[in-house]
Amino acid sequence: MPSTKKDYYEILGVPRNASQEEIKKAFRRLARKYHPDINKDPEAQEKFKEINEAYQILSDPEKRKLYDTYGHAAFEGQGAQEQAYTTQIPDLEEILNEFFGGGFGSVFDTIFERATRGRKRTGRRPQRGEDIYKTVEISLEDAFRGTTLEVDVDRDVECTACGGTGYDQSRGVRTCPTCGGTGQVVQRQFFMTIAQTCPTCRGEGAVYEPCRECGGRGTVRRRERIKVRIPPGVDTGSKLVVEGKGHSGRFGGPPGNLYIQVRVKPHRIFERRGDDLYVDVNVTYPEAVLGTEIEVPTLSGEKVKVKIPPGTKHGDLIKVEGKGMPRLKGSGRGNLYVRANVDVPKIGMLDKVFKDGKKIERLLKELQDLLPEPQRIKER
Ligand SMILES: [Zn+2]
Ligand SMILES: [Zn+2]
Repeated sequence: MPSTKKDYYEILGVPRNASQEEIKKAFRRLARKYHPDINKDPEAQEKFKEINEAYQILSDPEKRKLYDTYGHAAFEGQGAQEQAYTTQIPDLEEILNEFFGGGFGSVFDTIFERATRGRKRTGRRPQRGEDIYKTVEISLEDAFRGTTLEVDVDRDVECTACGGTGYDQSRGVRTCPTCGGTGQVVQRQFFMTIAQTCPTCRGEGAVYEPCRECGGRGTVRRRERIKVRIPPGVDTGSKLVVEGKGHSGRFGGPPGNLYIQVRVKPHRIFERRGDDLYVDVNVTYPEAVLGTEIEVPTLSGEKVKVKIPPGTKHGDLIKVEGKGMPRLKGSGRGNLYVRANVDVPKIGMLDKVFKDGKKIERLLKELQDLLPEPQRIKER
């Protein structure tokens, strides 16, 4: 009911043209009197709720403008879901921090001390450790079988001398004398107060000697040997992650990850394309014409028999199902492709390469005479 609500300006006891600073001051003065942490009277609590609501509206220039124009109606009706203010009572410490330097009484000083004690420990915010990237080179055999590598990594790990705090433990930590532990100093200029990061403690709220071991970082760099499991089927470009093995976090933050980038070295006889392998085999002209059976090595070590069908042309691929690389994702293996390389001996060199060179040359000439002339231009 709009009519039963008290005027916000009246609640704070300020004129309608009060400045933001006056409104703040009024709130501060009333908080000192009615905040539930100080005043246990239930009536005072109700009163502070009103004060808090009035302050939230009037300290916000936009809401204040709405209130000035429409009164309480501005925040009622359909718009009520998006409440213009929260009924939650603000933390006294928060009000305190906000108005630090405002000259509160002794009651506040005690609470203030409590607030800063909490701060001293958390003054250095936890930071997640950075990730580490490493590239490893493995053989195609290792990529086929999978392997475990030991990788040397230079990691930032928690400094044992200071337990990761960065402080010289033997000398301890004192509350910063400049800011009293808040990490902020407040300068007053006429009606304005400007909060700045404390120059003495750089916002940490505490002064201390930095740990001699880590120079205050809380971490030291150390070389560590880390086991990395390489699954079967990895390829150049595969990325593996070892969680938590990046740099340690600082001041209680979680560690980063170790990312391993894989490079598979080229193989002496196998060419890899995805999960498939290719191997070139030499066949003689008669073998290509008549067909034959040959033995081909595979990466698993077994040898497979492969039929070179009659009429195989140079470059033809013969598929051997399931003898390629293991699939990194999913099961089974790719294929092995045997590529026929029809070996053409050099005439004139035959007697040097083969013991029956002269005879081979004679037979080839005979064969040439027997074969009809081919259709020279190949049709597609
Ligand atoms: Zn240290
Ligand atoms: Zn300070």
